[in-house]
Amino acid sequence: MSVRVVARIRPLLEKELGKDVIVRPDRVEEGKPFTVVKIPNPKNETEEFSFAFNSVYDQTTTQEELFTAEVAPHIKALFQGLDLTIFAYGVTGTGKTHTMRGGLRLADRGVIPRLLSNVFRRGKKLMKDTNGRTTVDVALSYYEIYNDKVYDLLEPPEKRTAAGLPLREKDGKTIVVGLSERSCGDLKDFERLYIEANNNRVTAATKLNAHSSRSHAILRVKVTQTTGDVVKESTASAIDLAGSEDNRRTDNGKERLVESAAINKSLFVLSQCIDAISRGDKRIPYRESKMTRILSLGQNNGITIMILNLAPVRSYHLDTLSSLNVSSRAKRIEVREIENEVVFKQPPRPNAALGGANIQRQPLR
Ligand code: ADP
Ligand code: MG
Repeated sequence: MSVRVVARIRPLLEKELGKDVIVRPDRVEEGKPFTVVKIPNPKNETEEFSFAFNSVYDQTTTQEELFTAEVAPHIKALFQGLDLTIFAYGVTGTGKTHTMRGGLRLADRGVIPRLLSNVFRRGKKLMKDTNGRTTVDVALSYYEIYNDKVYDLLEPPEKRTAAGLPLREKDGKTIVVGLSERSCGDLKDFERLYIEANNNRVTAATKLNAHSSRSHAILRVKVTQTTGDVVKESTASAIDLAGSEDNRRTDNGKERLVESAAINKSLFVLSQCIDAISRGDKRIPYRESKMTRILSLGQNNGITIMILNLAPVRSYHLDTLSSLNVSSRAKRIEVREIENEVVFKQPPRPNAALGGANIQRQPLR
C-alpha cells in the first residue's frame, strides 16, 4: 500500500483579483520542485507555518500536468491488478470538483475523464496486442455518502429511500447492497452516464435543501481483464469529498449540525487512515467511517493519492489552515520569523471562463 499526499493551489478567480494572497508554494532547496506550502499564523502574522507534502502544485499547473504527474504513472499498476484511490480534499470553493471533474473544454478536463480515457485506451491496446485473447470490461458505479448514508447516483433520486443503501461484509470486503453497476464501452458512454449521475446528485441535494458540497461523491471504475479462465479485477476510485470547512461557523441550524458531525467524523477518519498508511502501521482505522470502510482503505494492495485543494486568498485563512493541518504528512515542520512580503512571483493567472462543471460529450483525444 502506498500513499501520496499532494497539494494544489488554485489560481485567483476573477472576483478575487487584487485580493490578499496568503498561501504560497515553496521548496526545501533552490532548484528543487515545490514540496512545501506556507501560510501566515493567523494569531501572529509575522510568523509563517510550513507544511510538507510529497508534491505541491502552484496556480500555473494545468489539468494535464497534474494528471500526467500524479495519476498516469499508476494506470499500468491498475492493469496489473492493484487498486487506485484518488481523493480531492479541501474547503468548498478550492477546486476539488475542478480537479476531479473539470471544465467543458478539452484542456480543462479533470482527473476523472482523463482516467477513463486512459483506461479505455490501454484496454483497447491490450485486446489488440493479445489478438483478442484478453478482453477488458470497464464498469462504473457512482454513489454519494450524505449524513453517513449511501445513495446510488446512477439511479434517479425518486428511487432513494431515507435509510439509503445498506452495507454488508462479503469475503472480508464491504459491499454496498443494491449498488448499480453499468458497463461502459467508451468515453462517450461514460460521459453520458456521468452527466446524468451528476444531475441526479444536484436534484437530490436540492430536494433535501442541502448542497452537494456536503456529500462525498465516489466514482468507482471496475476494470475486469479476462484471459480464458483467468479473471483479473481491479478498481480505480475517484472521490470528490465534502467540503472540509466547519459549517458550524457559518450556519448553525440543526440540519447543518448533523451534517457537520457526519462530515467531520468521516474526514477525520480518512486523515487517520492516510496517516496510518503513510507510517506503515499494521492497524488502519478504516472501519470507523462508512466511506473508508467501503473503500477498504489501507486493506487493499494499492495506491492512494490525496490531493489537497487550496484557495490562495485570505478569506479562507482559518479553514485553509485546518485543512493543511489535517492532510499534511509532516504536519508543521517549522515556524520561522519572516517579514510580510510579496508572495507569488508570477502574477496570478485570471480564471479562464470555465463555466459549469459538467462535461459535455467530446471525442476521444
Ligand atoms: P470545490 O469543488 O472545491 O467546491 P470548485 O472545483 O467548484 O471547488 O472550484 C471553485 C471555483 O474555482 C470554480 O469556479 C472553478 O472553476 C475554479 N477553479 C478551481 N480550480 C481551478 C484551477 N486550477 N484553475 C482555474 N479555475 C479553477
Ligand atoms: Mg465541488
